[in-house]
Amino acid sequence: MKALGPIPAGYDAIDGVLAIGGRPVTHWVEEAGATPLFVYSADHVRRRVAELRAALPQRVALHYAVKANPYPPLLALMAGLVDGFDIASGGELEIVRGAGLPLAKVSFAGPGKRDAELEAAILAGVTLNLESEGEAARAIAIGERLGKTPRLAIRVNPSFDLKGSGMKMGGGAKPFGIDAERVPALVRTVIESGAEWRGFHIFAGSQALGAEAIAETQAQALALAAQLAQESGAPLPHCNLGGGLGIPYFPGDTPVDLPLVGQLLAQQMESLPEVLRETEFCIELGRYLVGEAGVYLARIVDRKISHGEVFLVTDGGLHHQLAASGNFGTVVRRNYPSAIATRFGAGVEEEASIVGCLCTPLDKLADKGGFPRADVGDLIAVFCAGAYGASASPAMFLGQGPAAEMLVQA
Ligand SMILES: *Cc1c(COP(=O)(O)O)cnc(C)c1O
Repeated sequence: MKALGPIPAGYDAIDGVLAIGGRPVTHWVEEAGATPLFVYSADHVRRRVAELRAALPQRVALHYAVKANPYPPLLALMAGLVDGFDIASGGELEIVRGAGLPLAKVSFAGPGKRDAELEAAILAGVTLNLESEGEAARAIAIGERLGKTPRLAIRVNPSFDLKGSGMKMGGGAKPFGIDAERVPALVRTVIESGAEWRGFHIFAGSQALGAEAIAETQAQALALAAQLAQESGAPLPHCNLGGGLGIPYFPGDTPVDLPLVGQLLAQQMESLPEVLRETEFCIELGRYLVGEAGVYLARIVDRKISHGEVFLVTDGGLHHQLAASGNFGTVVRRNYPSAIATRFGAGVEEEASIVGCLCTPLDKLADKGGFPRADVGDLIAVFCAGAYGASASPAMFLGQGPAAEMLVQA
């Protein structure tokens, strides 16, 4: 038997059925009228944001990285909870337009921005996190052509990365950001162009669970921001310190010590170098805000035995939950937290693999896990499905199509 990832806190059973937002998941499946289904809990997100607000120094604003989950009702909820959105495409700009957060609170990072995307962002007053000198020149030229002052920040490719992070986004040669030593010259170019200078974006990695590693990266980001501000000879209006707070997905993972992260960041804020005294700061988080608030539900359509092994075949699969299948940036496949939702809390009775309905051996949601005995008609749940689920999976693979999604208020 292989271990399953840890089920996030806050999930209980009602009459033996997994509950979300105070109702058994069978209720939500009935309301949606279909499986597979993603259910996101608004209360879970609100609690997470409240914990962050309580832990983080007041001076540090909280941004939501839209790519984690762009489901419009969830964005509308986030608009009332966070201080800004970070987007990474023109498509995400269109999605956040309707969400209810002023576009002046939106920043746009990401390599390969097309001219049309730059134009839309400049017209909307969105801050561009510039990823190269070439992109800077295009943004400045587009601003001049439109007669609209672009709001420009520079994404710095730092020489450090976030230790223990699942996805490294800084350190060495990267398609993201501008190498630190070339940044001061570009700051001067941006300011001389007449653009509105917005500051730095320093994102060193993602999915880290160690509070000390996160704090160390934040300290390095602050030191780098101070050095680059000094060298460019201009005050720094804003600095995005990146994010990186992860959630436990796999056996042995433990949650981030959030109070410690907050305490160490507060210490940093109290001893800022002179050049950063007036700077506004933010951190940008995706999965930490929404990942554990979502559950993916699928129905067992077949139960079969092959060479003595039990396979629970569901109507879902990697086309909705690519990450849980181990095919979204993991080196070794390990099990996400999962359960038989209609027998939640029952003891382990057998070893079984939960698979999807795609004709590929990659389509595995749980490999040889310990579960109560489940049958055709039962629902399975994959946890940590609130981030990088629906929008980060190849829904059209094998003609399957997207899952239903639902935000429940409790
Ligand atoms: C992906 C990304 C994030 C969000 O990462 P999480 O691990 O979901 O918090 C934040 N900022 C940038 C620049 C990103 O590319």
